[in-house]
Amino acid sequence: MRRFSTQTILAPVVFAGLILGTTLHADDATPATIALIKSTITADALRADVAELSSDEMGGRFFRSPFAEKAAKWIQARFELIGLAPGAASDSYRQPIDKNVESGPNIIATYPGPGDGFIIVSSHYDHLRPKRTGEDKIFNGADDNASGVAGTLAVARAMKACTKAGDGAGCTIIFIAFNGEEAGLLGSSAYVKSPTVPLGQIRGVFNMDMISRGPPREIFIDGGKVGEPVVAALKKANQSIGLKLHLDEHPDWLDRSDQGPFLRKNVPAVLFSVEDHEDYHQVTDHVEKIDAGLAAEVAQLVALAAINMSHDAFTPRAEAPKPVKIAEPAKTEPAKAEPQNPTAH
Ligand SMILES: [Zn+2]
Repeated sequence: MRRFSTQTILAPVVFAGLILGTTLHADDATPATIALIKSTITADALRADVAELSSDEMGGRFFRSPFAEKAAKWIQARFELIGLAPGAASDSYRQPIDKNVESGPNIIATYPGPGDGFIIVSSHYDHLRPKRTGEDKIFNGADDNASGVAGTLAVARAMKACTKAGDGAGCTIIFIAFNGEEAGLLGSSAYVKSPTVPLGQIRGVFNMDMISRGPPREIFIDGGKVGEPVVAALKKANQSIGLKLHLDEHPDWLDRSDQGPFLRKNVPAVLFSVEDHEDYHQVTDHVEKIDAGLAAEVAQLVALAAINMSHDAFTPRAEAPKPVKIAEPAKTEPAKAEPQNPTAH
């Protein structure tokens, strides 16, 4: 679905492209839309969401605990407030990740668009079980991964604002907060086993996991060969955002977060992440230490790339007959204090 007739829009868009020194596609977001995305997705909004989700009241959001349920409810309420529709079966936001009643669900919401195909914007909300001893027992997981959930919510708000301004997504965007990532990608594996839309109709998956630490204005993006279409959209969108992108420098990360199960099913997917840092999987992963400006710019990049991608022509893919091999053997990392599944992001 195109937003404008090519005849009427092509000349001014090409002219704007020349002024900006970039090559714009007739269906790409206009400068006004880019400005709207930047003004809607702010560091302050990101920090506020991270602060709530990583507070001690959320208890560390261990996937199989009342705290996971509390976090799930918080995220669903945010999706409802933004105006997203339920995206799971039976008009619900909740998709169970396993049969254990103590496990929190995946929270799935949709924002409708007119065209073919679907785009997924995702992050995991679970983190780690509290320590038994010590003064600070709670793994707050501000960067891992309240930052990614805050980014997901920020993209949803931007989609709403762009639609209101008459320049929204050209296809339906699905927002997912996965549970059980830290326990072995349980939520995303459950999703690809019972997808809410055919996997062959997913244009791309933007998965954010730890997006708020490290050098300013730098982010790692990994999708390998299967993720290439998403990376192409991101490179183009980044002409308007200007982050330093580390592209496909970590093939060992492809199976370390929720993009993995999608990549294995041949669904183009990428991970946004920072390098492991001193507070990674430690009780000191606190909101005071995050770079909310970096998280905001990553979310801006996702919103813009998703909008552009949603207006491209799309042909559904055939489903992969068998799982695709995606990852190189993981590098051996030095043991960390009290590790809990140190292979997961
Ligand atoms: Zn993580």
